[in-house]
Amino acid sequence: MSRFWSPVVAGLSPYVPGEQPKLANLIKLNTNENPFGPSPKVLEALRAACDDTLRLYPDPASDRLRKAIAAHCGVALPQVFVGNGSDEVLAIAFQALLNHQAPLRFPDITYSFYPVYCGLYGVRHQVIPLTEDFRIDVQDYLPTGGQPQGPILFPNPNAPTGRALPLADIERIVAANPDAVVVIDEAYVDFGAESAVPLVSRYDNVLVIQTLSKSRSLAGLRLGFAIGSAALIEGLERVKNSFNSYPIDRLAQAGATAAIEDTDYFESTRSAVIHTREALTGSLQSLGFDVIPSAANFVLARHPERDAAGLAAALREKGIIVRHFSHPRIVQHLRISIGTAQECEALVHALRTILG
Ligand code: PMP
Repeated sequence: MSRFWSPVVAGLSPYVPGEQPKLANLIKLNTNENPFGPSPKVLEALRAACDDTLRLYPDPASDRLRKAIAAHCGVALPQVFVGNGSDEVLAIAFQALLNHQAPLRFPDITYSFYPVYCGLYGVRHQVIPLTEDFRIDVQDYLPTGGQPQGPILFPNPNAPTGRALPLADIERIVAANPDAVVVIDEAYVDFGAESAVPLVSRYDNVLVIQTLSKSRSLAGLRLGFAIGSAALIEGLERVKNSFNSYPIDRLAQAGATAAIEDTDYFESTRSAVIHTREALTGSLQSLGFDVIPSAANFVLARHPERDAAGLAAALREKGIIVRHFSHPRIVQHLRISIGTAQECEALVHALRTILG
């Protein structure tokens, strides 16, 4: 605390990211990183970009990268926005598109950064509980008549539940709220959910946000992007160009472009993660865990007879870290990121020992 802090800073409750431990030899299943390294073509592109040109500013518009993303998503260049991780893209969307008179709506169990951005940007919001079995109920997001409807934001698949909403349900929400922006945070979409990108050509109120941190194994490079109508994207650009002209450095532009272009590596690593997730789900169930069906690179699971915080601590003693949240509805759950097949086998082995 300092008397020099502004009232806004004094009132913030910053996001607490999952631990990035300094210890070696830990099995790290706590922050949904990809267990595989980036594509060799990405590393090659990064090495090639390490030259004298680093003395020059990067392309402020990241045109080459945005063209690669536009081709990958089947949209036009003015429909693509890039940022320093999807966290930055989300932050810019909060400022540009989600701060309206009518409150922003998002689920109670969801990405815990959303309420933090609300605090930073003074965005009024309304939290909508998931159903008993942690589903988004489309009905909760349909207009009730009369009042103006605020913007809507949720991840698909949702995090940390891993549950996906079918595209037809997302379309119902988007179509029923033509005067409200609907932001779909698709950080984990490549692991088994349907992307809402095809909706952007038919609806001007939908913004889809994706990241290279998960399915492209590039959490350390910091690259996220948004796809939407050219007018929504222009709104994001106006905020970005009033804040930082060069959020994507030369190395990130080179590496991210190579990652988007290497479809074969993307396909093979994401299918390995999906395969391991299904195997891990079966093993956890055989140990007595309830596992929410996941379309992401993590699972949310609870053991009906064991305290989740105790299990997380016991795993940690065995050198395995998973994520435990304090939200009352999921305080007895563990969120386990999908590691390599060997890491997941080690987790199952450790749990079998702990459970006795
Ligand atoms: N959205 C969701 C739902 C996430 O879980 C994360 C990762 N913590 C992000 C966005 C942000 O990811 P990044 O900034 O690495 O793109």
